[in-house]
Amino acid sequence: MTKVNYHVHTTGSDGTLSPRQIVEQSVKAGIKYLCFTDHHPFPKDFSKFGLTQDYSPRTCNSLKYYSEIMKLKKEFKDRVDISFGIEFEYLDGFVAFNKKEMLKRKYDLIICSVHFIPKNDIFVEVPWAPENWKGFIQLFGSIKNGVIAYYDQIKKIVELNLCDCVGHFDLIKLYYPDNWKEIEKQRWYKKVVLNILDEIKKKGLCIEVNTSGFRRLVKEQYPSEWILKEARKRDIKVIIGNDFHGKNQNPIDEYLDEGIKIAKKVGYKSVLIFHKRKPAELLI
Ligand SMILES: [Zn+2]
Ligand SMILES: [Zn+2]
Repeated sequence: MTKVNYHVHTTGSDGTLSPRQIVEQSVKAGIKYLCFTDHHPFPKDFSKFGLTQDYSPRTCNSLKYYSEIMKLKKEFKDRVDISFGIEFEYLDGFVAFNKKEMLKRKYDLIICSVHFIPKNDIFVEVPWAPENWKGFIQLFGSIKNGVIAYYDQIKKIVELNLCDCVGHFDLIKLYYPDNWKEIEKQRWYKKVVLNILDEIKKKGLCIEVNTSGFRRLVKEQYPSEWILKEARKRDIKVIIGNDFHGKNQNPIDEYLDEGIKIAKKVGYKSVLIFHKRKPAELLI
């Protein structure tokens, strides 16, 4: 099975391993295509946008980090194909900032993701624990309202069309305390998801098979199998990654085979790799 990991965090954001450690572990694990996708930092005046904290020190936009990746790229070029990517945060107030920052470096791949949802002038984190759902539902008035508010942000990523890939499409499900499949069965949910997929196809963006959900309560990849099937039907391309953070000493290739398996199961014959923001197909 071709080993590719296109979603990896390092000490350049909230990961525990340095870029060099990641590359060394990737080579050992037989990964042939690797893309660094650290979280881009927030603007300095992040509190102006309703965020209460600057989650982690993020240095992946520094020249030092960039030089380190370029050095590794050269040094390991015969063993692993390294791409320089980034994961931008979609937040309403950040668009101008993100636009400017995207041009500062020659990225190979830009992922844009939603981790926060706006509500009453503040940003609320996607429920990151089962017990957070109660407050989340209270705040938005219902599960449906909260979930739609999440997808409204995903929709904006697609409409803006500044990135190459929409990150972990249905992340909102990660710590849902009951059966998420019941939500997915509802007509409003399907409609919201399918509308966004149509728009993704129109804009020519890709999505990811992100296998980090196997580490969460939901115990499956993002997006769910039926969503991936619908994406395949529309010929929306995918990248594959495990959103590696190096926590709990989990291996760099954790759940990558599961990602390939599910992609094949719904009919994908290839995944994308990126160089200078140009996609190429890699047979799986
Ligand atoms: Zn993310
Ligand atoms: Zn990530």
